[in-house]
Amino acid sequence: MLLFTDVDGCLLNKHDYKYTDALPILQKVQEVKWPVILCSSKTASELTVLARELRLSSAPLICENGARIIWQGDGFGTERSTVCRTHRDAVLKSLRRLSKDFRFRSFTDLKLPGVMQVTDLSKEAAVRAMDREGTEPILWDDDPTLITDFERELMAEGLTLTLGGRFWHVAGGTNKGDALQQVAKCYETSMKRPLRTIAIGDSLVDQSMLDRADFSIGIPTPDGTHDVSISGKGMYATMPGAAGWAECVRRLLDQIHTKD
Ligand SMILES: [Mg+2]
Repeated sequence: MLLFTDVDGCLLNKHDYKYTDALPILQKVQEVKWPVILCSSKTASELTVLARELRLSSAPLICENGARIIWQGDGFGTERSTVCRTHRDAVLKSLRRLSKDFRFRSFTDLKLPGVMQVTDLSKEAAVRAMDREGTEPILWDDDPTLITDFERELMAEGLTLTLGGRFWHVAGGTNKGDALQQVAKCYETSMKRPLRTIAIGDSLVDQSMLDRADFSIGIPTPDGTHDVSISGKGMYATMPGAAGWAECVRRLLDQIHTKD
């Protein structure tokens, strides 16, 4: 079994970024030797720090919503990084062209002081947030109704636009679902047997990952609404954040244990 999980709003609470409620179950998952693959909009630098804290450095990391994968852990040899499809340089080139017709500010435009100011991150954290290889966050400064025209222009160049919190993320047509399949395939090749996948998510950007997994878990937002849908096998958590994450993974471990 391979467990793919989104980070913000799932393993980490949205309001205080804590993961304490998930820790006892995360420990149990590691005892049964299910690799836990973090899959987030966060950068490789950001996820590497978190993975180290959670003792998850023995599994690959899916960064920038599937645009970059850090291959690490047993069976993957020396740590290496791959950028899926479009490199960030191509994304920035398109954004430079579109900046003539639309008003927005990218992380590249904002530079380090600007990113620190709009995100309230420390210098070190802002540097990690800017360590990008395949995607670029932007702040939209133009008329909100023009965003669809902007998206159409991006799509014509094979790029995608997704909203994540305050920022819109421009990516090279990558998504979490494709990355899940790519990582699962590598595990299967390395272990020479088919493996089942679990995906945990709370927002639209996670939907492709939930749709491709054998078993999916939907975590509600802090106000109790569900932004993701479970179409195949799966379950919804009754609580948001780390508590909901732990609730569902505990149920899943119990079910599998009972079957055995
Ligand atoms: Mg999330």
